[in-house]
Amino acid sequence: MSNPIPLHSRHRAVLPDWLTLYYERPIELTHGEGRHVWDAEGNRYLDFFGGILTTMTAHALPEVTKAVSEQAGRIIHSSTLYLNRPMVELAERVAALSGIPDARVFFTTSGTEANDTALLLATTYRRSNQILAMRNSYHGRSFSTVSITGNRGWSPTSLSPLQTFYVHGAVRTRGPFAHLGDAEFTAAAVADLEDVLGQARGGVAALIAEPFQGVGGFTSPPDGLYGEFREVLDRHGILWISDEVQTGWGRTGEHFWGWQAHAQNGPPDILTFAKGIGNGMSIGGVVARSEVMNCLDSNSISTFGGSPVTMAAGVANLAYLLEHDLQGNARRVGGMLLERLRAISAAVPAVREVRGRGLMAGLELTKPGTDTADPEAAAAVLEAARAGGLLLGKGGGYNTSVLRIAPPLSLTVAEAEEGAEILEQALRSLR
Ligand code: PMP
Repeated sequence: MSNPIPLHSRHRAVLPDWLTLYYERPIELTHGEGRHVWDAEGNRYLDFFGGILTTMTAHALPEVTKAVSEQAGRIIHSSTLYLNRPMVELAERVAALSGIPDARVFFTTSGTEANDTALLLATTYRRSNQILAMRNSYHGRSFSTVSITGNRGWSPTSLSPLQTFYVHGAVRTRGPFAHLGDAEFTAAAVADLEDVLGQARGGVAALIAEPFQGVGGFTSPPDGLYGEFREVLDRHGILWISDEVQTGWGRTGEHFWGWQAHAQNGPPDILTFAKGIGNGMSIGGVVARSEVMNCLDSNSISTFGGSPVTMAAGVANLAYLLEHDLQGNARRVGGMLLERLRAISAAVPAVREVRGRGLMAGLELTKPGTDTADPEAAAAVLEAARAGGLLLGKGGGYNTSVLRIAPPLSLTVAEAEEGAEILEQALRSLR
């Protein structure tokens, strides 16, 4: 029997108020194919955001569907206590791709749990609960990860179990170094890091950073900045954790991992990943040098992390990504899309900046002619794009005034063009 109360009202009545939903009339997605999704009213949308959330390659990718259903039909079990073939296979591939020497991989169920595990490792390895994190960052929603999240809009408690110091350097458009060129910006951020280290008492365990901030509004420092940081960190024995939850798997086009734009002094000690690797199945994970990974001196398991079904999805999805060179696609199609977005935005005074890499593009909206963030404009564009058949994301600091674009990595040129046109109409509808 169907329940006459609208789903949105039922959602509101039973789920927490702080669970974010987009749109005045939230969308109930029913199915997807390729780069498109459909809602319960039969509307079809080009998905310019699901790529970062879950769908790294394509919606309903037959290779992943087959792998999942075959594995589900055989056995779904825990990844602990017994050998698990797809988990070992995915770990081998991820270890080889990670760029971390002597790598070990631990699978979790989310990015939050991956970062939580990275913190467990770093704090244990260094015997310190002091962490360096970047301003404007987002690292998850657990008790430890909210306390290293610099973006206070996403950090709902300040009762931190860690001692966190926030470092400048991830945001170019605002803050004390905004006016500086690349080299000066990097030097100022390194000086800030040294200053913060001077204030920390005793050893610091690790620095955690997203090479290209996701929730924070797709902002990135100059290439090489984290490599310069690494040199300072090395002098103190501090670990570098690269949170690749949004930047991994070739999304940025030029590199397979975000850290590779900062590689002059070697890879990070710990890398975390999640989101799209399972193409919608819940996979997160941590890669670390074995010396760091094996520093825990008692057992630690994740019952569902590495479940055979999610691992089968990961193996199939990663194989597809590599065989079809979706990193190259992100570079080519993303580059064209960025150019097109820059051209469109030049004629729209509300767009202060278009920035991005590969298939990761952000449009920062401000009140025309000022630096004042304009979250209302971002919300209005999101609604107008939806009406035109395009799903976008939002993000950016305290005010969600950055439109975020992160489609599945198989986006075609025609689809990029289609999305850009809808977005242009939506931006032009701003008053
Ligand atoms: N790190 C980053 C950079 C993220 O963007 C997110 C999710 N937005 C997380 C960690 C947390 O991942 P999850 O939502 O899977 O816990």
